[in-house]
Amino acid sequence: MKHPYRVLLYYMYVPIEDPEMFASEHLTFCESLELKGRILVAKEGINGTVSGTVEQTEEYMKVMKSDPRFAEMVFKMDESDTHAFKKMHVRHREELVTLRLEDDVNPMETTGNYLKPSEFFEAMQDPDTVVIDARNDYEYELGHFRGAIKPEIKNFRELPDWIKQNRDMFEGKKVLTYCTGGIRCEKFSGWLRKEGFEDVSQLHGGIVTYGKDPDVKGKLWDGQCYVFDERISVPVNQIEHVIVGKDHFTGEPCERYVNCGNPECNKKILCSPENEHKYLRGCTHECRVHPRNRYVAEHNLTKEQVNERLSQLLGEVEI
Ligand SMILES: [Zn+2]
Repeated sequence: MKHPYRVLLYYMYVPIEDPEMFASEHLTFCESLELKGRILVAKEGINGTVSGTVEQTEEYMKVMKSDPRFAEMVFKMDESDTHAFKKMHVRHREELVTLRLEDDVNPMETTGNYLKPSEFFEAMQDPDTVVIDARNDYEYELGHFRGAIKPEIKNFRELPDWIKQNRDMFEGKKVLTYCTGGIRCEKFSGWLRKEGFEDVSQLHGGIVTYGKDPDVKGKLWDGQCYVFDERISVPVNQIEHVIVGKDHFTGEPCERYVNCGNPECNKKILCSPENEHKYLRGCTHECRVHPRNRYVAEHNLTKEQVNERLSQLLGEVEI
């Protein structure tokens, strides 16, 4: 069956002069094509994900590739029935990925070896290898490579400090890194090299490429891959589907993310529709009773109805 829409994911580290001007012109261009999505532009390159019809995305790729700076750009493509974004944003940033390093890493000079999916698949089964997930905790929790190390961090930018504190886990080992599309690993694996780790490799094209590879078919991936658009997750392993996500409230297998109803918390929590209702979409008691709880507002619950649900929960705790 043919799908009318596509979602593109792409990046390129390449010097962009006057990234602010580029961003504003690029927004006009994307809007003229009626694309939707999110694109970051920095003096070190571009990182984007957009959705549009087959024709619109074809035109976008054609025009981008006609620019010598982006001629070698690799576009990862997913078919889709609809747009995956509501709006079109093109923003200028200091860095494409936020590592906030004292000494910035230029991936065009220093980065880990690139491994194709089949090479990565072989390498991660070597007992001398450690695999580090270079993403945020909520991404790991929905799915990851079997046996991959989850750094105890909330944000990607905390990763360098965490590695420094846990050096002994990686010393003398072959280090493999992976992320969604590959862009975070370009910098992170380069940083690992600068830190003195000698044998560092990265999954070229990231998880999304691995999941489409006709040879490895996403093998040794458990769960789903978190993506930064309205789909929230995409499948990876074409052979078997092992659920690793756990319901925030009950610990039961779960792959459904919602944002905590408390707008000031907004934490991503895995939970079933039943538990979302039961717990008023609040990750903690404080979030459930927050005066601006979005679940309560969306469902027009009265104070009495909220209190009734809360007392049901309290009743359960007592048992
Ligand atoms: Zn919360």
